[in-house]
Amino acid sequence: MSLGTLFVAATPIGNLEDISLRALRILKEADYILCEDTRTTRLLLNHYEIKTDTISYHQHSGFGKIKQLLRYLEAGKNLVLVSDAGTPGISDPGSMLVAAAREEYGEALQVVPIPGASAVISALSVSGWPVDRFTFFGFLPHKKGRQTMLKEILANDYPAVFYESKHRLAKCLHEIAALVDEYELSVEIMLARELTKMFESLYFGQAAELAEKLENDLDMQKGEFVVLVRKIKK
Ligand code: SAM
Repeated sequence: MSLGTLFVAATPIGNLEDISLRALRILKEADYILCEDTRTTRLLLNHYEIKTDTISYHQHSGFGKIKQLLRYLEAGKNLVLVSDAGTPGISDPGSMLVAAAREEYGEALQVVPIPGASAVISALSVSGWPVDRFTFFGFLPHKKGRQTMLKEILANDYPAVFYESKHRLAKCLHEIAALVDEYELSVEIMLARELTKMFESLYFGQAAELAEKLENDLDMQKGEFVVLVRKIKK
């Protein structure tokens, strides 16, 4: 049995030019592209005139779907896993399929990363902060565990990074401001908005001042955000 290869490929987080030549070649040559949302990935594929067949694979795909994909690998088919944007597995589907495939075939299966864009790394790269060490928290929970995670973020000695929706960003900044007061901390925040897109912006400041700025600026409330937090020594 000659197994196919499972590629895990990063795709752009906005600007369609942010994709490697290797990723484009692998997407073109593969037998199937496994997409979080086939319609979203089709926009990228159409842009680069890539005609490879797509298969839907997302967080709600059950074990039956994973089994089907493993059969493709057994048939020697090469699969490329992509998410809607950025790097699969980073607050995105992917790890379950990789884990299941590795459990089934061990080291006989080649799982090959095709690196590229990721919102968290892009935001860190333009922070200007010392980020040789940082902690990534993924998405801030909506309700249960939210306060605990925020406290953990503020207890951290290294810069902390997380994803937050535009709908809860003002609330998040107010929550951080309250904890900063309660624990008498000094904290700087960076908001990275719409990275690589037309309205890309970076905002720096204290939580309370950024909350006020956000509430008074409708444009600032639009788009996708990465939030960075660091403690300043008093
Ligand atoms: N796997 C992706 C990655 O590697 O970047 C992240 C996927 S996660 C489901 C999507 C979240 O990433 C968004 O809700 C937002 O917080 C952040 N994000 C994605 N694209 C972004 C962008 N262009 N600018 C700022 N944040 C972005």
